[in-house]
Amino acid sequence: LAGIFSPDSGSIDLNGHSISLLSIGVGFIREMTGRENITLSGMLLGFSEEQVKEKEAEIVLGHILMIQDPYMQSEIEKLMDSGVCAESAITQICDRFAMIFSQAEDELTKERASDVSDIKNDLLSLLLGKESPELSSLAPDSVICAKDLVPSVTAGLDREHVAAILTETGGATSHSAILARAMGIPAILGISGLTETLKSGTSVIVDAQNGSVLPNPSDAEIQKYRALQAEYNEKKRELASFTDKKAKTADGVLLEAAGNIGSPEDAQAVMQNGGDGVGLFRTEFLFMERESAPSEEEQFEAYKKAALILKGKSLIIRTLDIGGDKDIPYLGLEKEENPFMGFRAIRYCLKNRELFKSQIKAILRASAFGDIKIMFPLITTMDELREGKKLVAECKADLRNMGINFNENIQVGVMVETASAAVIADMLAKEADFFSIGTNDLTGYTMACDRGNNDVSYLYSPLQPSVLRMIKRTIECGVQNGISVGMCGEAAANKLMIPLLISFGLTEFSVSAPSVLNVRKIISTWTKEEADKVTAKVLEMSTQQEIVQYLKSVV
Ligand code: PEP
Ligand code: MG
Repeated sequence: LAGIFSPDSGSIDLNGHSISLLSIGVGFIREMTGRENITLSGMLLGFSEEQVKEKEAEIVLGHILMIQDPYMQSEIEKLMDSGVCAESAITQICDRFAMIFSQAEDELTKERASDVSDIKNDLLSLLLGKESPELSSLAPDSVICAKDLVPSVTAGLDREHVAAILTETGGATSHSAILARAMGIPAILGISGLTETLKSGTSVIVDAQNGSVLPNPSDAEIQKYRALQAEYNEKKRELASFTDKKAKTADGVLLEAAGNIGSPEDAQAVMQNGGDGVGLFRTEFLFMERESAPSEEEQFEAYKKAALILKGKSLIIRTLDIGGDKDIPYLGLEKEENPFMGFRAIRYCLKNRELFKSQIKAILRASAFGDIKIMFPLITTMDELREGKKLVAECKADLRNMGINFNENIQVGVMVETASAAVIADMLAKEADFFSIGTNDLTGYTMACDRGNNDVSYLYSPLQPSVLRMIKRTIECGVQNGISVGMCGEAAANKLMIPLLISFGLTEFSVSAPSVLNVRKIISTWTKEEADKVTAKVLEMSTQQEIVQYLKSVV
């Protein structure tokens, strides 16, 4: 086929049909890549002549026809004429086309979205002169070392064989770090100059507890770290004794230690760690690693599966929280100057109602199979909460009319993760059934600092006096209005934070599954009275450094 696809021939002979094509497509790509010796087959697919069977030839043809599409071409060219580089123009237009296809009614058209994404990836690899490494099947004990690892790539990693992750960008609460934690993979993010210094093939020890990386370790160092690893594993075994215990303070205040999940399968890990339920199901991960949105039916099956695994324990399902560092190309989010402040999460869902309603209906239908609650992310105004609740009521009415079972009294809660939500927590608490504090974003929005930016990471801490006041206020407003308040941000697992949260009155600590037992253990070491004393002192302190230093001396 490579021969037949020569740009000079201008036609292809397929099963006896002579089809004229390519002159525009190849000329166009030639122009963009500046490469002369391009054949579409070699460039797009790399198929050898023998490999191309009838089916594959159809796919190739489909791709070629898409590339030739005059409208698609002119849209890309328009962007390039306005000064956008070729890579970005291709990305923007292909993503837009993929989104249009993915929203089609019939399955066949929907599937075209993946073709557009294939074309995009191939064109980008070519333009950038790069081959994307295959990360879903790796050699045992591989250490991934990258400039950046986006959540969708992290989610698709070969879990069994990744020994550790190292990246130049990101921080402890970026989604790749959260995913790695949930998968039990040691990770250190934000190492500047990493990819310059550490070359592929180097042996390396990664000590993610202390944040150190040792390239080319000596035998003595390897021995030392093997001993440390054994010690760490022993501590983990000791924690197992907390699996069947309750999350209780030393003086008997009963709390909950729940888990955060990104897939129904993760609920299994929460159960294995004896979690009291799921305080956060990040549903956007169901939307990743695919070319179109999961249907209502697919989502229903996923939520039902998680509910059944949890055997009646509480399951808080957060509606789609895309944007920020979580891009889902086929949803067609425009590139923004300020993605964390932009068109994302509940804002996107309220403007894309069909998508939102299909998710809400899937959650409602699954609520017939367990103790499911709905939670809205990134709430900043009362209007957003009211609008979201209105859609829940509409979905309920639709299901009722269709005679489909669901929990009529399903709770609808608010994720308090913006400064605005914390400030109006007194009002939100009157109309929400529960709160869950998302400290990952709340810290970022309160401190006006990006959670993945190394240069401002010195500001990014939930132990900043301002963030602590936001948290305290949110819990107090919840308690005063008789609704429960949990925390699903990473701070809930922070041993310095836990006494403060006990004292403020937090009732549910939702953390990555591997951290559940440790949180339970830490809670068991505090009495309410001791926690109150420590907290009173902390609230008098005016700097984060002072607070951290003091807490380290008492925990
Ligand atoms: C948070 O912001 O604290 C949170 C739990 O949500 P996410 O990390 O998914 O943004
Ligand atoms: Mg968040």
